[in-house]
Amino acid sequence: MEIKPFNQPPPELGNQYKDDRVLHSYLKRNIPADIFQQIEPSLTEMGELAGGELYEMQLADRLKEPVLTQWNAWGERIDHIEVSPLWKKAEELAVKYGLVAAAYEKKFDRYSRIYQFALSYLFHPSSDVYTCPLAMTDGAARTLLQSGNQELIDRAVPHLTSRAPQQSWTSGQWMTESTGGSDVGRSETIARQDQDGQWRLYGRKWFTSATSSQMALTLARPEGNGSGGKGLALFYVETRDSEGRLQNILVNRLKDKLGTRKVPTAELTLNGTPAQLVMGIANGVANIVPMLQMTRTWNSVMAAATMRRGIAIARDYARKREAFGAPLSRQPLHVETLAGLQAEFEASFHLSFYLVELIGREENSQISEEQVQILRLLTSIAKLTTGRQAVHVASEVLEAFGGAGYVEDTGLPLLLRDSQVLPIWEGTTNVLALDMLRALNKDNSALEAFIHEIEQRLKSVSHPKLKKAGKIALDAAEHVQQWLAGQKERKLFEAGARRTALTLGRALALTLLIDHAQWSLDNENDARALAAAKRFAMSGIDLIQDINFDEAFILANDQ
Ligand SMILES: Cc1cc2nc3c(=O)[nH]c(=O)nc-3n(C[C@H](O)[C@H](O)[C@H](O)COP(=O)(O)OP(=O)(O)OC[C@H]3O[C@@H](n4cnc5c(N)ncnc54)[C@H](O)[C@@H]3O)c2cc1C
Repeated sequence: MEIKPFNQPPPELGNQYKDDRVLHSYLKRNIPADIFQQIEPSLTEMGELAGGELYEMQLADRLKEPVLTQWNAWGERIDHIEVSPLWKKAEELAVKYGLVAAAYEKKFDRYSRIYQFALSYLFHPSSDVYTCPLAMTDGAARTLLQSGNQELIDRAVPHLTSRAPQQSWTSGQWMTESTGGSDVGRSETIARQDQDGQWRLYGRKWFTSATSSQMALTLARPEGNGSGGKGLALFYVETRDSEGRLQNILVNRLKDKLGTRKVPTAELTLNGTPAQLVMGIANGVANIVPMLQMTRTWNSVMAAATMRRGIAIARDYARKREAFGAPLSRQPLHVETLAGLQAEFEASFHLSFYLVELIGREENSQISEEQVQILRLLTSIAKLTTGRQAVHVASEVLEAFGGAGYVEDTGLPLLLRDSQVLPIWEGTTNVLALDMLRALNKDNSALEAFIHEIEQRLKSVSHPKLKKAGKIALDAAEHVQQWLAGQKERKLFEAGARRTALTLGRALALTLLIDHAQWSLDNENDARALAAAKRFAMSGIDLIQDINFDEAFILANDQ
């Protein structure tokens, strides 16, 4: 008798918009009804694509990676990068749905940003990180618009924000050199002016994602300028000439990376690349900040999106997979494990979309002075908090699949590999925590505004369990304030930066979750956000501890 082996039904995804209670509820609350009606059809379409065609393509195209061809058959250096089929599809969809354009068309006033990021959040987990060039494109458009350089605005912004496939451009952001991605002030790329006044760049850029972009914003040191970040200038580069040839740019190789393998991240040599100054001959590191603000915001939202995707497939699988006589979805400890992940996700969602909301307000001059202060801290805080959450959740998601989570052709390991980049690029956890400290140092009012926001939101909360959770959030934020005030030594202050930033991030995320849970109880008669808030409150909000630096030094250096 032939024995038919057991085959486990795989996890499946439905419409990723319709299935997302958290996104739905957030939009219902935060977008006026008439705008919601207008945007919902495209969100539904994107949800369908993300759970259907794109997801299937992603699984089927798993092994198709970008290919760099440096020479053609006749010996000419071409450095052509052929991206994966899914990336080509993703490019087409990104332009069609206006994943960058929607923010600049401003059809929905300050809600345009929420709309843009809701679409991108749905798109991201099925796009093989095509959101990387989109983030930089958005950042480049914003940087150029804020630069006041009308010539470059007229030249590039219509392309960066276009919905026409033939017109649309993406942008790169070439900052990191082998001397340092955090300390970019050490960059070695030189800018020299020809006799006719044309600037040309000479140097090597060590990590350049989306090298297939039409333009890039980059940093280089005009000859004669001093050292450090102030001596660098911000330059605009068009990668190809009118014949389509790379403009004195050599693609040395594509990086062989742990994850984001569909993103063509390259090492480049700039060998006299023509470039234009964006705004002045110095202060490049300061001038590229609008780019970083946008890419860090994308990073935060995409971290939340990645968590949501992992949980969606783990949840579906738990209903199908049986162990010890019951589906995993009924096994108390598995239920408990998934619940913790859902709470992390919901907190990360509200934190990232709060950042998006403030950017929308800022761009439409509907922002209060206090919100401006909060925004100064929030970009770093949200990016570093959600980046770490995403890695934790992705790792747990893989474990929730048992051995299948470790097997490549399930498509699951991708989740962890692609998450691991989130705390690294656009500023590591430590570097962003130090950025935040610098912002706090300059002016105490940012932290005061931050804590005031927490207090204000908690004031309208009436459910006793939410009030209790709210106290945890407020106590944690106030603990940060006290701890900072008590630090006299610079090194202790710095050594505590990560704990400080993560505590503020988790405290604000909890507050936003509580605020939304109260709304959801009152308006939707739904207690799920309440459950998420209660659970998140118990999962480590206050991370502040006194630091014994001498001991830390002994341990770190093992001496
Ligand atoms: C897949 C991928 C794509 C990328 N794409 C791009 C791109 O398109 N453009 C671009 O410009 N860059 C890109 N990067 C580079 C990325 O932004 C940098 O790798 C990152 O900023 C860190 O810089 P680094 O690698 O030089 O590490 P380092 O700066 O050497 O940092 C090493 C470690 O030291 C820590 N550290 C540094 N300074 C301090 C300090 N003062 N106190 C405490 N800790 C500190 C950091 O947190 C980190 O853990 C990409 C990276 C990856 C992985």
